[in-house]
Amino acid sequence: MIKEIKSVYTKEKRKITLFETDNTIYDKKVLIIGVFHGEEPQGEYLINKFLETKPDNLKNKLYIIPCLNPDGKVKNQRQNSNGIDLNRNFPTKNWEITTKKDYFGGNEPASEIETKFLIDVLKNCKPDIILSLHAPFKVVNYDGPAEQAANRISEITGYPVKSDIGYPTPGSFGNYAGVERNLPVITLELPEDETNERLWEENKRVFEYLANEY
Ligand SMILES: [Zn+2]
Repeated sequence: MIKEIKSVYTKEKRKITLFETDNTIYDKKVLIIGVFHGEEPQGEYLINKFLETKPDNLKNKLYIIPCLNPDGKVKNQRQNSNGIDLNRNFPTKNWEITTKKDYFGGNEPASEIETKFLIDVLKNCKPDIILSLHAPFKVVNYDGPAEQAANRISEITGYPVKSDIGYPTPGSFGNYAGVERNLPVITLELPEDETNERLWEENKRVFEYLANEY
C-alpha cells in the first residue's frame, strides 16, 4: 500500500503529492517522478498502472510523485504556469538565464514551487536511485552513477541507452542530482507514438526492477 506523506499547492492551487510505500523494512530507497513537463503525461499513466497492481511486500521503499507539474499538464505545455521549464530551474553550478523560449529556466534558480518541493524531497528522502519519466525520445538517459541501472532498463524496454542527450542542460534535474550530488538518475524518455497498452507492456518490468531487484 502507499500513503501520502507530503504535498504542496502550485501557483494555480493544484496539489503536488509525494507518496511512499508503507514497507518499514527495506533495502534501497527509490524515487519516481512523473510529468516534469506538462505535455508528457505518459509517466503519470505508467505510475498509475503500476499502483493499480497494488504492489506489496517490496524489497525497496518507493517514493512516488505522479505529477510534478499539474499546472503545465492542464495547459498541455512543457513549462509550469509561470512559463518556466522546471528541468532548467535547478540551482546547478552551470545555471544561467537563457533566452531560449521553450527552455526558459526562470530569472533565478529554484524560483519555482515545484523545484523547491523536489529539492526538499531529495533532502528528506535521500533516495538511492531516481527515475524521472519524460517523453518523447524513446531512450534511457542517465546522470551520475547509473550506468548499470540504465543498461538493465534498456534491456527491459528495448530503448537504447544514451549517457548524453546531445546538448547542454544547465539547471536540469539530472545535473543537480546526478552530476553534482552523485545520485543515480535515470531519465527515461518514453515514446509518444505508442498506445498506452504497449507503453505499459514495455515498461511494467522497469517498476518491478526498481521495486524488487535494484
Ligand atoms: Zn521532458
